[in-house]
Amino acid sequence: MLLSDKYPFLTQYFTNAINEKNRALPQSILFYGSDINAQYILATEIARLLNCKNNRHDECDCLNCRWIRENTHPAVLTISKIDNKPEDDESRTVISIKQSQMIKEMLLSESEFHRVFIFCDRDENGNPSGLNQVNFQAETANSLLKIIEEPQPGVTFIFLTRYIDDLLSTIISRSQCFFVPSFKSNDYNYDCINNIFTDYNNFNRQDIFNISQKLNNLTKEYTITEILDSIQNYILCLLKSNPKEFELINHIKYVEEAKLQAKLGMRSINIFDDLCLKLIN
Ligand SMILES: [Zn+2]
Repeated sequence: MLLSDKYPFLTQYFTNAINEKNRALPQSILFYGSDINAQYILATEIARLLNCKNNRHDECDCLNCRWIRENTHPAVLTISKIDNKPEDDESRTVISIKQSQMIKEMLLSESEFHRVFIFCDRDENGNPSGLNQVNFQAETANSLLKIIEEPQPGVTFIFLTRYIDDLLSTIISRSQCFFVPSFKSNDYNYDCINNIFTDYNNFNRQDIFNISQKLNNLTKEYTITEILDSIQNYILCLLKSNPKEFELINHIKYVEEAKLQAKLGMRSINIFDDLCLKLIN
């Protein structure tokens, strides 16, 4: 499946940003959400769009596009506890200060390419996983702040994480943050909220607490996670057919927040009230 089919909204957003002459693309980008692999693919795709010397089509086979697909592009670097370490760097569990210094030194010289640094962690199988304050510690993160915020044409930093709060606020405040929905192992099933929450975009504000109560009644039959997953699946379906509705990405974000509240043990009725207030207007 092509990335532009899977993430039409985000791909379109970045393609527009890259095509615009006044460079609307942020220098520092933060992706968050549970599917780090999807974030990594999206980050690589941005690097490809920025470096392609041809038509930027999905199937483009120019040298830059090929290098990026093979993960051998000289200016598109994954920065993790195991990727792109300087020779004298013995750290194995963190992104190190030495890696940060290496990047700063690289930026002192000109490059014919658009440099993209993708910051992430790796799991035990070597798959991309999310940054947190254990694998990307404050000292290293702070050592990067200057180069992240100083505008430099031809350089983009991309950070991948599960939860925004896993990163230092100094990095968050200097980055544009995007939620990347997960398309993993779900078939967009939303049976359990059918007839209760479908078409929520047509609901009236005066019905909010009534609808919230109906959702809460479902907890007799389903877990709160199942209900929230169903709401999220429904919104993902809407998004698939309305890829330009950026507001829906915010809606998915609100459901993610509700899931977090559920994890923290908040009462279900309060979670649904809060969510309905955000989604229905
Ligand atoms: Zn190309």
